[in-house]
Amino acid sequence: MADQNFINEVHKRRTFAIISHPDAGKTTITEKVLLFGSVIQRAGEVKGRGSTGSFAKSDWMDMEKERGISVTTSVMQFPYNGCIVNLLDTPGHEDFSEDTYRVLTAVDSCLMVIDAAKGVEERTRKLMEVTRLRSTPILTFMNKLDRETRDPLELMDEVENELNILCAPITWPIGSGKSFKGIYHILRDEVLLYHSGEGFHIQERRVIKGLDNPELDAAIGEDFAAKLREDMELIQGGSNPFDEEAFLNGDLTPVFFGTALGNFGVDCMLDGLTAWAPSPLDREADSRKVQATEEKLSGFIFKIQANMDPKHRDRIAFMRLVSGRYHKGMKLRHVRIERDVQISDAVTFMAGEREMALSAVAGDIIGIHNHGTIRIGDTFTEGEILHFSGIPNFAPELFRRIRLKDPLKQKQLLKGLVQLSEEGAVQVFRPIVSNDLIVGAVGVLQFDVVVSRLKHEYNVDAVYENVNVSTARWVSSDDPKALEELEKKVPQNLAYDGGDNLTYLASSGVNLSLTMERHPKVHFAATREH
Ligand code: GDP
Repeated sequence: MADQNFINEVHKRRTFAIISHPDAGKTTITEKVLLFGSVIQRAGEVKGRGSTGSFAKSDWMDMEKERGISVTTSVMQFPYNGCIVNLLDTPGHEDFSEDTYRVLTAVDSCLMVIDAAKGVEERTRKLMEVTRLRSTPILTFMNKLDRETRDPLELMDEVENELNILCAPITWPIGSGKSFKGIYHILRDEVLLYHSGEGFHIQERRVIKGLDNPELDAAIGEDFAAKLREDMELIQGGSNPFDEEAFLNGDLTPVFFGTALGNFGVDCMLDGLTAWAPSPLDREADSRKVQATEEKLSGFIFKIQANMDPKHRDRIAFMRLVSGRYHKGMKLRHVRIERDVQISDAVTFMAGEREMALSAVAGDIIGIHNHGTIRIGDTFTEGEILHFSGIPNFAPELFRRIRLKDPLKQKQLLKGLVQLSEEGAVQVFRPIVSNDLIVGAVGVLQFDVVVSRLKHEYNVDAVYENVNVSTARWVSSDDPKALEELEKKVPQNLAYDGGDNLTYLASSGVNLSLTMERHPKVHFAATREH
């Protein structure tokens, strides 16, 4: 039997990430969330450190200097409402990459932030697709109510129709823009009044209890009070009540309204997160399901960050603990390479600083120093042989042919590319009919990163050329003849990836659908398990 203290610690954990389109307010809400977690004294300290700051098409070395700092914000841990919350950063803007997708496979819930003036945007759609792979529970924050926004019912309709998830409003906005009065908390039956210009600190809650309270008419005006009562009648008839089970299954999202900049409504969302979001979930491995409260440690690597400290060229592998607890100096089994390794200097991310990890439990993230033996998807245990599933590669969306300036260095180039692809920085494809090397990425900045790292770490000068590839799929089939047929018909579209898996490189979406139609016995996968 695991001891009760340990079980309580695990149950306190809430590990989540934010999904949003650039500029919807992810950085701002992160600042406010950390403010509530008492991690930063004044909001406004996250911005400009580079976590989503704007890297122009920049020199990777400069960027890496900034990253040395911004990395401290890649995992943030703070206490709230008796819980220990882990917020994992999802690189957005130019540093959007496959890492962003993979972070979503390492959390137990997600917060979707939507700009209420714009509604559902493209990046959010993509990220929601990824959360669907594991039916991750989603909370929603409709942001920027201090500006003119779209009608809240219309916004929820759009989420329901476009993202295929039911909406259950928990708070409801009263007005927007200049006439934003506050929010009504439907479950608590109370109105919270908004005062502008107080976004930088934790405000006292100005509460009016009860929808029928005459004080409400006095506080926000009769017209707004009447409109709110009308809205609530509409909602009672027409929208979904909150249902915890449907939320946990990823079928329904509780919706909160507010303004991150004004730090208003964010605490209601955090209350919802700590009350309803799951504590660390059990996780499938190849041999069995591992329970979070098992005492023995197990975990998997979901991200490798290179060059955290430019002086040391160290790489940090981020491990999500699935079960058990970590303590300094413990010995762990690196399952893939069948070796025991002593972990004496893992880092945790308490309070936004890199600190020596004293202990961490299931749900937490630790960073371990990596000298090249750790890959994305690797499993660590206290000895048991098992592999966690569900940490995939995602089909790249951008492609370039890469060429050497000095053709004699082909070997180094290939070696560098394969290693960088094992780290998850990019993916590399070798067409079966040519000696080309094609690099695929999810975010455009990765191309610059790769050329810069090839130069500095492998001493090769490489340049890119355009290539007529728009998407990739990993192909497999139970019927060897079907694969042979594919190789005969479209050899020019086939390539091996960095792990020697056969891949179809399509010039367009239409080309892909046609090929899929013509080869019904071949499976075309948009993700590949490590
Ligand atoms: P990110 O790209 O999603 O991280 O978005 P940011 O947090 O950087 O926000 C993008 C811009 O929107 C910034 O100029 C913010 O100040 C602004 N912003 C964020 N939240 C709000 C809000 O609630 N109201 C208003 N008016 N602006 C906001």
